[in-house]
Amino acid sequence: AKRGGKNRYFWFERPMEHELRFRSELEQAMRAGIPAGEFVPFYEQQIDLLTGRIVGFEMLARWQSPTFGLVGPEVFIPIAEEIGVIAELSERLIREALSDAREWNPEIRLAVNISPIQLRDPWFAQKLLKLLVEANFPPSRLEIEITESALHDNVGLVRTLITSLKNQGVSVSLDDFGSGYSSLAQLRSLPFDRLKIDRSFVTAMPDSRDSATIVQAISSLGEGLGLPITAEGVENAAVVAELQRLGQFNAQGYLYGRPEPADKTRERLAGLGML
Ligand code: C2E
Ligand code: CA
Ligand code: CA
Ligand code: CA
Repeated sequence: AKRGGKNRYFWFERPMEHELRFRSELEQAMRAGIPAGEFVPFYEQQIDLLTGRIVGFEMLARWQSPTFGLVGPEVFIPIAEEIGVIAELSERLIREALSDAREWNPEIRLAVNISPIQLRDPWFAQKLLKLLVEANFPPSRLEIEITESALHDNVGLVRTLITSLKNQGVSVSLDDFGSGYSSLAQLRSLPFDRLKIDRSFVTAMPDSRDSATIVQAISSLGEGLGLPITAEGVENAAVVAELQRLGQFNAQGYLYGRPEPADKTRERLAGLGML
């Protein structure tokens, strides 16, 4: 886990007994905070580098805790998975995100992250469809992101899931590509709609020939397989220049802005005439 930034508070060294009490306070606060609406979607822009236009937003969860402040998902998602509330949390966040995204220009897509635990629920696709119907949200505007590390013990399940999502018109991206265990054979047998290059390769590109080579290889892989590619973790113009030299990409990252809450996202789109 990364240490620092918005999650620094959680990484101070604590004696073991404090650690245990802190952890149980955190769990209790989460259980109460979910129905209280303390978990909210933030949104990160996704840019088509060819046109420079916003083509989508990725929903990234945040916990606005009255006790702990603004908490990031790398702290609370693993806990939500462990204590068995991830599905409920995710459902609430997605419902909220669908209602936010309904106000954007209909060409702008919404991407959401799904936990490996949710993939094991045989009703997941049905539940998602129900949310889409309730929100009156076109399935074709929704993209599900499955992280590569979720694949290795789940390939059969994931194949079934992707197929039923695609039948509904929802598309599926392979997230953090290059960081995990997925083999090229899996890539061939799973009908993903998009690859998202792990940000470690993207961030390192200007200083590391090896990273640039890997990004280039993934780009030609995507081209060959007919899969569009998103580069995430784009922090500066040097990376954009490299990407434009290497191939065709969508991009997201701090260069374009930090993840923002719904109202800021709306203002941004209004300013661009994209509501
Ligand atoms: P991810 O899906 O790989 O999301 C991208 C992460 O990179 C986000 O961190 C984002 O804020 C950060 N990021 C974006 N641009 C840059 C950049 O230019 N440089 C750097 N260094 N970082 C950048 P965040 O929001 O802390 O999310 C962490 C992870 O938590 C996400 O990684 C995703 O896997 C997971 N996550 C977030 N929301 C949800 C959710 O609702 N459900 C589930 N299951 N997981 C979620
Ligand atoms: Ca993601
Ligand atoms: Ca990612
Ligand atoms: Ca990640």
